[in-house]
Amino acid sequence: MSDVMPTLFVGHGSPMNGIEDNEFAQAWQKLALEIPKPELILSISAHWVTQGTRLTANDKLKTIHDFYGFPQELYNIDYPASGAPRTAEKIIEQVNDLHINLDNSWGLDHGTWIVLRRMYPKARIPVIQLSLDYAKSPNEHFELGKKLKKLRSQGVLILGSGNIVHNLGMMNPYTHAPFEWAIKYDELIKDLIEQTDYPSIINYQKFGEIAQLSIPTNEHYLPLLYILAASDEKDTLSFSCEKIVYGSVSMRCVLFS
Ligand code: ZN
Repeated sequence: MSDVMPTLFVGHGSPMNGIEDNEFAQAWQKLALEIPKPELILSISAHWVTQGTRLTANDKLKTIHDFYGFPQELYNIDYPASGAPRTAEKIIEQVNDLHINLDNSWGLDHGTWIVLRRMYPKARIPVIQLSLDYAKSPNEHFELGKKLKKLRSQGVLILGSGNIVHNLGMMNPYTHAPFEWAIKYDELIKDLIEQTDYPSIINYQKFGEIAQLSIPTNEHYLPLLYILAASDEKDTLSFSCEKIVYGSVSMRCVLFS
């Protein structure tokens, strides 16, 4: 394949985005129509944090309903994408990282499937999930993302699924009015992406209180670092879903194509 696949970060927000016909579901659908069809999707989801980095290696991937208290309709959803065990082995060889292991226990968590069932409802594109190693520093996640970049020229869509601002403890579910710090941080990250100032995005703690409030734990932020690392100066950058919901969750998507 000579074409280089885009790389995409999606702000996934509530699991309900997997079934509601809302502006985010529609935007994800549209994104899939705008980019070339991948041969494989490598998904880095906020919802799979492990000791060491793991890659799903099952032929069939179970749909994991890793959330509580949602309508039964959401638990009934199955996203029947197949896995790609041989490709997972090849990725480990190519990345040449002794700390990546194949995994037969995980499947597709909601960070992956709520997005993919909108983007590719027929589930015909094989999927591999890559976990987030909790022992890695943000910079180490970024460095691993750089090694994955070469997969883009092999028909692989590298998808990061999280949220740039994600503070469920401070949600404002009634008015949805965004907190000032959430708007500030989301816009700061947008500007830094436009300036290709990735070191500042990696060292986000230097931004003090707005970063602490926006990223109380960093699992929803880290998938963005992989996408930035896999981007290239030749890419065209575009944003979509530029909205804060529940006061404290940024739905921003970042596409390098
Ligand atoms: Zn999430």
